[in-house]
Amino acid sequence: MDPTIGHEAIQRELASLAISADPPHALLFVGPDSTGRKVLARHFAMLLNCERVPGGEAPQPSMFGEAAPPAASIPCGECRTCRLIADDRHPDVVVVGPGDAFCKPRPGDASHAVHPLARDIRICQVRGMIETVARYPFEARYRVIVLDPADRLTRDAANTMLKTLEEPPGHTVFALISAAPEAIIETVVSRCRRVDVRTVAKPVMEAALLARGVDPQVAAAAATAARGRPGLAVAFAQQPDLAGDRDRHLRRCAAMAAARMTERLRYSDDLAKRARADRPHLNSQLDIWEAFWSDQLHRAAGEPAFGDSAAILGALRAVTQARQDVLANVLPRPALDLMLLSFPRLTLSDTLRDETASNA
Ligand SMILES: [Zn+2]
Ligand SMILES: [Zn+2]
Repeated sequence: MDPTIGHEAIQRELASLAISADPPHALLFVGPDSTGRKVLARHFAMLLNCERVPGGEAPQPSMFGEAAPPAASIPCGECRTCRLIADDRHPDVVVVGPGDAFCKPRPGDASHAVHPLARDIRICQVRGMIETVARYPFEARYRVIVLDPADRLTRDAANTMLKTLEEPPGHTVFALISAAPEAIIETVVSRCRRVDVRTVAKPVMEAALLARGVDPQVAAAAATAARGRPGLAVAFAQQPDLAGDRDRHLRRCAAMAAARMTERLRYSDDLAKRARADRPHLNSQLDIWEAFWSDQLHRAAGEPAFGDSAAILGALRAVTQARQDVLANVLPRPALDLMLLSFPRLTLSDTLRDETASNA
């Protein structure tokens, strides 16, 4: 089954792009986390590479000799290529994110340290990526490189890929994923065809969960808790406890973003004390803060009156800095204090508004 949930209009748009004479070589999927941006990027990779696409190799007939389905069911979601892409195992459909994927230091640069836990996408990775796309794909008609999140490209990295982004080899398509496109340099954004990915209506998510065999009660609860985000709906259906946890933590973030400094520092103290014995807890709290500010940024972008994007970007950078400090074994308390003091102050009513109201 094709894993895409909702987004019919985007699927139609991608289908017509895929069969056009000159498919775009760079797409920018913009939307909040867990709405399906990466799933849609993979869907585009399937459209370009499905073995049932006219002109492609016909799939092996089944042992019962069933007729091939009509062309309308492309991507089929069933051929070897579609399945490998859906499972994230296709050698030519590659996700590049922060870390060390494709890392290729300059020749002779002995000072280049390994960076499996980096929080940005670095120039060394872009160099390795450019080298890879210069070669023919292993087996796909189109290699698809997914950059997620594209707003984590460092400035050097973004500048280094401009030329490749503008004129990639004919067998390569880039898919950039971002909740915060305003954090990407304009020269990159302007080279991409933008696809806006919005939240998905609850009944659509619920029906998709039911079609996947989820128990009706669990499906209804998960679809409600996911607040428009199919990625969360699927996760909550698999692990119902997650829904309550995530909601509780996000509400805590909202309360802290609206709180006075003294309260924020008390929270910092609690978090730092707990971190001594439970480092994974600290990391998961930083993840939640990142999700919280990404959401705020996304809303601020859609509605300038809502908030100051620059201040919110500053908050996101503060989270990244705290994470780096903690990794570098700076004491958690000063690192967290600095982070919390850098956050802008929001009002509760803004942060807790139901984001799906306009899409339901
Ligand atoms: Zn297929
Ligand atoms: Zn590197």
